[in-house]
Amino acid sequence: MPEIKIGLEVHVQLNTESKLFCSCSTSQAEPNTNVCDVCLGFPGTKPVLNEKAVELAMKIGYALDCKINKKFLFSRKTYFYPDLAKNFQITQLETPIASNGKLKIGDRIIRIRRIHLEEDPAKIIRENNYVLLDYNRSGIPLAEIVTEPDLRSPREARIFLQKLQQILEFIYVSDFSKEGSMRVDANISITKYKNKYDYKKGWIKEKKEGGRVEIKNISGAKEVEKALNYEILRQKRLEQIKRETRLWNEKTKTTVSAREKEEEEEYGYIFEPDLPFIEISEEILNKIQSNLPELPETKRKRFLKYNISEEIIDTLLTDPELTRYFEYLCETHNEKASAILLAKYLKKTLNYHNLKLKDVKIEVRQLRRILDLMQQYLITEDVAEIILREMVNDYVKGKKIREPEQVLRDLKYEKPLEEEKIRKFVLDVIRENTKAVKDYQSGEKKSLDYLIGQVMKKTGRRVDPKKVKELLKSELD
Ligand code: ADP
Ligand code: MG
Ligand code: ZN
Repeated sequence: MPEIKIGLEVHVQLNTESKLFCSCSTSQAEPNTNVCDVCLGFPGTKPVLNEKAVELAMKIGYALDCKINKKFLFSRKTYFYPDLAKNFQITQLETPIASNGKLKIGDRIIRIRRIHLEEDPAKIIRENNYVLLDYNRSGIPLAEIVTEPDLRSPREARIFLQKLQQILEFIYVSDFSKEGSMRVDANISITKYKNKYDYKKGWIKEKKEGGRVEIKNISGAKEVEKALNYEILRQKRLEQIKRETRLWNEKTKTTVSAREKEEEEEYGYIFEPDLPFIEISEEILNKIQSNLPELPETKRKRFLKYNISEEIIDTLLTDPELTRYFEYLCETHNEKASAILLAKYLKKTLNYHNLKLKDVKIEVRQLRRILDLMQQYLITEDVAEIILREMVNDYVKGKKIREPEQVLRDLKYEKPLEEEKIRKFVLDVIRENTKAVKDYQSGEKKSLDYLIGQVMKKTGRRVDPKKVKELLKSELD
């Protein structure tokens, strides 16, 4: 078996209002409108460091168990390319903001080598015979998170990235709904073992280390997995693997050679003379650390105690907003019912419209109301789902979101039957289905579902199956 080593360099766009070294906005806009002398690299302009970006990078450092550098400086990485108007990128070489961290995936520990801040270059758009440049992106703050080559398979790389993304969302440092908010350089090397005959030792395994190949600028975890899978197939066929930089083509699903890898020295790094040596006070560091939100892994452990299925919990944890709503609902209502309402019914409706909870202005109060109605057996789970669907529809159509009761009135919803009426149907069904009743009482639990079904039919489904089950059991057990 070949031995695979994978190390990732993950560039994450930090959630700041303004760019890393100037006050231009980071919001989406017409190309080349969020620009100024600094991010266009005019001679004589000077960078001013965005404090918020430092804070966010440090949050990542804490979340990934890193050692934080309170003293750091910036460097110029010089190269010529049209996306880099001033011919150098301001980044960090000797003193990353954080280093020596780790991220656990299952029982594997992936070491984080370093986290540093740098500015994004401009965006290059290739169109027919033109190359277009959008400098809106020039100077956007990035955190680069570099792992040790601890990952062992493309799949593990994907899981690592998904987990990393989840953490970054839960500590509110990055917004992954933005295009290009996570871009990855994936490094891979393969060591092959070959059986070889040695005239003294007999058959031996010969070790053959392949050169490290770096696949640049892949967007998203799934594409990284695909690119690495392709690269393994390609390298398996080669006798000699040379060190090089390749590019991933999302359309053809292949990698192509870009250049034989240059050494780091060739970038001619120098210290950035226009920025000071920065020192962050203990006080600020402590504040950042103590304000770090609870991490998804910790939440998961806490939620598992609520007797909710792991699947539902993991669905809640796909979105920090869904999780936040869940915690609010739990203050007043049953945890399991709250989790199911959000993770199953609301999430399904949101997914249908390709929406996130944070986009839709449904209030916690309104969800509590739906839970109340369910608790009082006034609506079933199915009806709760219909109400949510209607409310999300209001949002989609640009209308004011209706209250749950209003939705019920608009649907001319008939209240479920009174308990006494349901009991009457229950007794009828028991009388008419002596065989199923006998089966149930002699231990065949499945027969109860049959009986519940019979009652549901008789009532025209205007009852909660849970209520029916409760009544049947009280008659039969
Ligand atoms: P460079 O500075 O030339 O980009 P680094 O040594 O800083 O190279 O490593 C960059 C990335 O490459 C890191 O994520 C690291 O884990 C990974 N890496 C280093 N050596 C290997 C290797 N032999 N196989 C796979 N990945 C590697
Ligand atoms: Mg590199
Ligand atoms: Zn600017």
